[in-house]
Amino acid sequence: MRACPISCTAVKQQFSTCSRKPKDVNQMTRGNPCQLPGMLPNYDPNDSEAGMKILEDLTENVEQIQQRVLEEIITRNARTDYLKGFLDGQFDKQVFKKTVPVVNYEDIKPYIERIANGDSSNIISAEPIIELLTSSGTSGGQPKMMPSTAEDLHRKTFFYNLLVPVMNKYVDGLDEGKAMYLLFVKPETKTPSGLMARPVLTSYYKSNNFKNRPFNRFNVYTSPDETILCSDSKQSMYCQLLCGLVQRQEVLRVGAVFASAFLRAIKFLEHNWKELCSNIRTGHVSDWITDPGCRKVVSLVLNKPKPELADLIEHECNSKSWEGIIKKLWPRTKYIEVIVTGSMAQYVSTLEYYSGGLPLVSTMYASSECYFGINFKPLSKPWDVSYTLIPNMAYFEFLPVKKKNEDGAKYVQCNGVCKENCMEKETEKEDVETVELVDVKLGQYYELVVTTFTGLYRYRVGDILMVTGFHNKAPQFRFVHRRNVVLSVDTDKTSEEDLLKAVTKAKVIVESLGILLIEYTSYADTSSIPGHYVLFWEITSKGNNHLPVLDHKIMEQCCSTVEESLDSVYRRCRRKDNSIGPLEIRVVQHGTFDALMDFCVSQGSSVNQYKTPRCIKSGEAINILDSRVVARFFSQKAPFWEPV
Ligand code: AMP
Repeated sequence: MRACPISCTAVKQQFSTCSRKPKDVNQMTRGNPCQLPGMLPNYDPNDSEAGMKILEDLTENVEQIQQRVLEEIITRNARTDYLKGFLDGQFDKQVFKKTVPVVNYEDIKPYIERIANGDSSNIISAEPIIELLTSSGTSGGQPKMMPSTAEDLHRKTFFYNLLVPVMNKYVDGLDEGKAMYLLFVKPETKTPSGLMARPVLTSYYKSNNFKNRPFNRFNVYTSPDETILCSDSKQSMYCQLLCGLVQRQEVLRVGAVFASAFLRAIKFLEHNWKELCSNIRTGHVSDWITDPGCRKVVSLVLNKPKPELADLIEHECNSKSWEGIIKKLWPRTKYIEVIVTGSMAQYVSTLEYYSGGLPLVSTMYASSECYFGINFKPLSKPWDVSYTLIPNMAYFEFLPVKKKNEDGAKYVQCNGVCKENCMEKETEKEDVETVELVDVKLGQYYELVVTTFTGLYRYRVGDILMVTGFHNKAPQFRFVHRRNVVLSVDTDKTSEEDLLKAVTKAKVIVESLGILLIEYTSYADTSSIPGHYVLFWEITSKGNNHLPVLDHKIMEQCCSTVEESLDSVYRRCRRKDNSIGPLEIRVVQHGTFDALMDFCVSQGSSVNQYKTPRCIKSGEAINILDSRVVARFFSQKAPFWEPV
């Protein structure tokens, strides 16, 4: 990190009383006398007290910091092609908010594509864009690409460092052991101009900020970096679990980024514990671990034969039930660190089963665009988690979102899609004004809009958040859902439109055989690991209401066609990461969707405006469909996928 030449002990000093004081804020941002990347205060991450002080100052001075962030972004970037077109040489915040439009990805895609194809990055950002971060949101079936700068890695490091004092405040003794965090890199590609295109976490783990991180006794991992950075996900998983098992007595916390990834690791352990134990018993790593870096470091961790340890682990894994297995295998574990908010909430009960009552901790809310917020009460229950947006990460704005649908009908789970559509109508109005971070209202729903240091201006992230409270002057938000997403098992995000397109392609197959698809809906079945998409189809023979005779091969082809038509993140999860299982079509008897409508109406949906929900979340609604299933079919082959 570019060090601040001035010793800045607190943000307040940074932002308002920096000792080499400029006369006014404008002067300070233009001159940036502290030489800090995007106004990040310098502090020793080992010093928890200093960390807490920074968080207090950041949350006390939200308004001032947000104004400074916006000024700095405008000052730096006003001459970029993008902003020049709107600001016309003016460096003014009011002009910025009046003239720069709130945009979606499609609006900025041409700029991103120009950069990917070799245009200079200063068309959107004064700081050179050094790579493009492939998001799990997709556009035209391909991952969206978000710009990233060298400086932004420091911003992320600053953010990660702030998580440490928060955890230390609630959990003692985290420096007396290790964290078994199962972290993975994903495939990467190069754009035609030679820029790296890869997911944000892959970018971070491969950066010097991660690889050469200074020693921090609160953040010691059981996984050697070589095992995290191994591009073969199977070898990486095996080696990380092996290292975690060998060091089980030192492990104080376990986790992965998302709940789905952690559960995948438990499944992997279920399939591989015998071999892992055999390696521990003999002190020899399996021959199929061929990655030289992994072999070397894991051999060092294994060190020598450990038959007693192998017996112990074998005994636990051999037991009939795996309830509480985490606590049994890693007995000193204080909590499980995984994101369990948003679409990951569907994994809470499974995690609770395996965890033996350990707290589930969602520490942060972040994306490829920007890192947003920190959970200041990490031990709160998953459904109570709120994130406090950190005001020096970006300039945040909020599009108000109406909570109720237009006829005032109460929101019902089974008709969540209808509610989202209504919200879409609200936020898509041209004249909707954003509000600033300090002006959001308790209990209100908003869509997050960011202006980043990396070349995104008034960009709609697509996340709907609700204000739950305040920490000092900083609002706290509950993640409500992602705009447009109806299905998600891992990092995939399938919209109603994606699903419709895929189903439309598949139904052509049955239509040619005289079979009509009358209605469909879907849900993400995560009762087994990996989870998978389930489509409920009500079908009939053309010309009568009879259920046709169904050919297995044809129906399996329909399953595959749907999969082939879904976006590249789905196909990567399914084919490369194995984090999604084969898609299933459940054919239901005639009249099932009428029964679903009756149920939704009984729950408060308007009869006049009823539309079949294309995704079902309510257990009761799923039971109605499931009790009428007459046949099930699964995709027999993984869809095509290659890095883009
Ligand atoms: P990506 O751009 O692929 O990194 O995905 C970022 C998106 O993941 C965010 O915009 C959210 O929709 C979702 N996400 C990230 N962190 C959280 C969280 N803590 N809780 C719920 N959803 C999250």
